[in-house]
Amino acid sequence: MTRKLFVTTALPYANAPFHLGHIMEYIQADIWVRHQRMSGNEVHFVGADDAHGAPIMIAAEKAGITPQAFVAQIAAGRKQYLDGFHIQFDNWHSTDGEENHQLSQDIYRKLKSAGFITSKTIEQFFDPVKNMFLPDRYIKGECPKCGAKDQYGDSCEVCSAVYAPTELKNPYSVLTGATPIMKSSEHFFFKLSDEKCVEFLRGWALKDNRLQSEVANKCKEWLEGEGGLGDWDISRDAPYFGIEIPDQPGKYFYVWLDAPVGYLASLKNYFGKTGRDYDAFMADPTTEQIHFIGKDITYFHTLFWPAMLKFSGYKTPDNVYAHGFVTVSGEKMSKSRGTGISPLRYLEIGMNPEWLRYYFAAKLNAKVEDLDMNPDDFVARVNSDLIGKYINIASRAAGFITKRFDGVIATDWATADDAFLNNLRKVAPEIQALFEAREYGKALRAAMEQADLVNAYVDSNKPWELAKKPENDAKLQEVCSRLLEAFRILTIFLKPVLPQLAAQVEAQLNIAPLQWADVAMPLPHHHKINPYAHLMQRVDIKIFDDLFDIPAAPANSATAEAIPVDDSATSDIEALAEEIKIDDFAKVDLRIARIVNCEHVEGSDKLLRLTLDVGEDRTRNVFSGIKSAYQPEQLIGKLTVMVANLAPRKMKFGLSEGMVLAASAADEKANPGLYILEAWPGAQPGMRVR
Ligand SMILES: [Zn+2]
Repeated sequence: MTRKLFVTTALPYANAPFHLGHIMEYIQADIWVRHQRMSGNEVHFVGADDAHGAPIMIAAEKAGITPQAFVAQIAAGRKQYLDGFHIQFDNWHSTDGEENHQLSQDIYRKLKSAGFITSKTIEQFFDPVKNMFLPDRYIKGECPKCGAKDQYGDSCEVCSAVYAPTELKNPYSVLTGATPIMKSSEHFFFKLSDEKCVEFLRGWALKDNRLQSEVANKCKEWLEGEGGLGDWDISRDAPYFGIEIPDQPGKYFYVWLDAPVGYLASLKNYFGKTGRDYDAFMADPTTEQIHFIGKDITYFHTLFWPAMLKFSGYKTPDNVYAHGFVTVSGEKMSKSRGTGISPLRYLEIGMNPEWLRYYFAAKLNAKVEDLDMNPDDFVARVNSDLIGKYINIASRAAGFITKRFDGVIATDWATADDAFLNNLRKVAPEIQALFEAREYGKALRAAMEQADLVNAYVDSNKPWELAKKPENDAKLQEVCSRLLEAFRILTIFLKPVLPQLAAQVEAQLNIAPLQWADVAMPLPHHHKINPYAHLMQRVDIKIFDDLFDIPAAPANSATAEAIPVDDSATSDIEALAEEIKIDDFAKVDLRIARIVNCEHVEGSDKLLRLTLDVGEDRTRNVFSGIKSAYQPEQLIGKLTVMVANLAPRKMKFGLSEGMVLAASAADEKANPGLYILEAWPGAQPGMRVR
């Protein structure tokens, strides 16, 4: 039976380019969608930019443009990432689109007439310097539940608690640093605490294995925890970039109300453009609505979202699948530690997008687990498994078929009882089930086990030995044909993960796009393939030196971090770091250093190698990412400042024993200058800077 699927990924906030975590989520969902399409199911896979809210309004104001223009700039950059990683959304829309205004207002009206909206006057934080009510994300303070510092006003990133900003301890305005004052305003609330709502959510979230067990357990805590669910504040006061609340001038929907409605809006926009019937599709009880999201937004997607849909008479989601975060070599991504990865740079330096798809897939499962990206592991999986086990089969067999047999496949095996190929075909349902269950790591492991068996067949039949004697020609053609048929089947197994590679294989084998059903349809009698061309390069580990951000200097830019929403993409001046005490500063040992030598680093277009005299009985070797700004001869003899007690860091080119200081703009792309510090004459190498 053909399934009807409506699949989404979380809507990215339109104030910054995609980071690696977005790409991971899109790849996870894209693999699932491609698997469904290969199964013959009807799938509509849509995304959109989450355009509303105060952060975008404020960032646009700083940039001197309208929020719409600001969002359009960000949106214009999306395609290169999505195309680059073969992520095939059917539609990409914006929550500021007309459909979203209409759907959000409709949902609100229906919730209101069903009695699920109340209003009350609340005291709210107001920034007396900026003269506006402070959005939750512009207030920080200590989490009322766990006490974690610097948590946003709506939810805690440490313990996942959701609360009102007024519950924060020691609050401050992120905009001005001012202590906010209380001011009253009428707000609208969705009655999440209503007994009907709680009862519905208990059924929706905890039954039918709709949610992963970790997520369902979290929902149970939220539903049955002390105090239960609170009503949800869904309104914000002007000035606000968002959707106006019907009949309430100056009041807007809180961005989290209209953001998920953006899923429906994007689908509706897509159906409108392609002449499909949106209402009929959503009214069809067999339509499955599936959301892929990050673990940090489960509260919104498993409580607010299904409840607001349910009580406005809309279809509720069938599944919400949460994933963890991406870490790099065990650490949260950070430019200052050299563990930040820009997806765009990955593409720009010529890394194959399907290496990353394969690597992510190999590490993904159906649990809510963080995924660690580690260069050595990456290289091993791509080179040993993907290329060593799979690609190699084609390169070992296709050459003989092309050169010796004019590209023609021997076919007597196709109808014969062929245990070798039949065993391979028998694994297909298991691999399909693993893709269905989002157990991609297990699916790839099962595929690679089959690749091992095919390689064992190569080794026991030795085509290169057969090729030495003309009387073995028939046998050689049969063995190589069988190998290409095996390769074709393995390609089906891997196609959801490697769509581009599969297309290359289809072209070389001269066959139509492969579907799951083609596992049972061998290459036809006397089929002629096209000449073999190399399918995929191995990864050279050295390329990671270009991929990772250089940690030496500048030390503190946030551009590649998991993007905090208050990090304006256009501001030239970074927000100040958290306040420290003099003792904290004293931990950093800054010393005057004389640059006694400076040279280019062969093989690096970013680094200079500095030899520094810090008044010790030896010199220090420091690599610094300042090549774009200085010629080595400009620096020799200069006095500068270095962090002398930084743990040495092993780099591809050698050990770096410290870090020199340099200034840079917050947005290095827009304003790429780098300025190394220089000491006044008279300072001596080794003097402490304090
Ligand atoms: Zn907390």
